[in-house]
Amino acid sequence: MQRSTSRISGVFFILYFALFPAASAFAEEPVEPAEPDSLVIAGHFEISSPERRALTREYALSHYGLDDWRLVEPSMLIIHYTGTDSDRYSLDVFAPVRLSSARGDIESGGEVNVGVHYVILRDGSVWSLLPEDEMGRHAIGYNHRALGIEMTGSSAERITAEQIASCAALAADIAFRHPSLRYIVGHHEYMEEGRPHLAEFAELRSDYPPTVKRDPGEEVMSRIRDILARDYSVVR
Ligand SMILES: [Zn+2]
Repeated sequence: MQRSTSRISGVFFILYFALFPAASAFAEEPVEPAEPDSLVIAGHFEISSPERRALTREYALSHYGLDDWRLVEPSMLIIHYTGTDSDRYSLDVFAPVRLSSARGDIESGGEVNVGVHYVILRDGSVWSLLPEDEMGRHAIGYNHRALGIEMTGSSAERITAEQIASCAALAADIAFRHPSLRYIVGHHEYMEEGRPHLAEFAELRSDYPPTVKRDPGEEVMSRIRDILARDYSVVR
């Protein structure tokens, strides 16, 4: 009785996988850990181009001694705000390949425009700008090691709760996908004495010192870190 039952179910088993081969392939895949959140990318505002990559490569050679535009195994994620309350401007400022003449403060550093991997708009929607394997110019001394997130905002007070929540979800998602990521840092913290991420700093040009930054500020970072620890068990 036992034997006959298993023979019958065996026939059904073979029939099922003959009819649904995709299901059989799926069933054999190992179980992966769940992603930390159902992160939704609202859209792609692509700023990458062969010309930008060529200029990024020039920048990386001059500042880091790296003849490459690629960002390999990022160890840091640096969080910023854009300095304006306009979502439109917060995206558009990154679109040109070459640095604007308005950026006299950093023009001696090279021609490539500032660039970042993600911009989070005031409603919390996440836009992708650069692929994660391409360097963006967003933090002096760390662009060869760091992914960057910008949030639309003219000051810390203007950053919305939706942006904080999305930024934490995105940071958790990035940490999950990049085991090399060791530090999540606010731009204002990037040169702070005693911070372990300073070991990642590199700048070959002594005439190009890091500038003082206020974005996104302590309060914004502590709110992001609280959510990261509480909801995603990410402590960086
Ligand atoms: Zn910044």
